[in-house]
Amino acid sequence: MQHDFAHHHEAMRQLHSPHQNLRPAGVDIDLIVLHAISLPAGEFDMQYIEALFLGALDCHAHPSFEDLSGLQVSAHFVVDRQGIISQFVATEHRAWHAGLSSWQGREACNDYAIGIEMIGDEQRPFTAAQYRETARLCRRLMQRYPAISTERIVGHKDIAPDRKWDPGIQWDWQHFHRSLERIRRYRDIILA
Ligand SMILES: [Zn+2]
Repeated sequence: MQHDFAHHHEAMRQLHSPHQNLRPAGVDIDLIVLHAISLPAGEFDMQYIEALFLGALDCHAHPSFEDLSGLQVSAHFVVDRQGIISQFVATEHRAWHAGLSSWQGREACNDYAIGIEMIGDEQRPFTAAQYRETARLCRRLMQRYPAISTERIVGHKDIAPDRKWDPGIQWDWQHFHRSLERIRRYRDIILA
């Protein structure tokens, strides 16, 4: 399974989530939503997150998973604690990460957003590799979809404030924006 970003990043893992469908015709992809996830809560392994997004989670594997039975969710990308990125849904398709949501008066963010899950919680800081690789990924997406400005990279909480907390208090937006800016300057030098 080769998704659209495979040729840009040889280290990116390519998987296929069944939890996806088509975006509305003619939609402009112009938003990135950052999330945080850990399964079970507080454990940072990829194994169960991957199973959840592939529709293959054994809901008896942990008591907390019973709540997840039948849940159909996905994200375009997951960034693990080492900064390794897995892609589950092609960016041209609609992943199911935002749920009931609205940004600047426009509802159903899944229609026009790209979802990136970062493995983490509100207890421990995200890793340097996650800031670097999430920024690199966002920069590549911004080049491919020019309507995504820095201001249009938001958190799940920003688009669903009554329901969601993520990416949460450990996600340092200033650190992330510095990483994003550094990559832009680096690219400018390379291209000069
Ligand atoms: Zn989320």
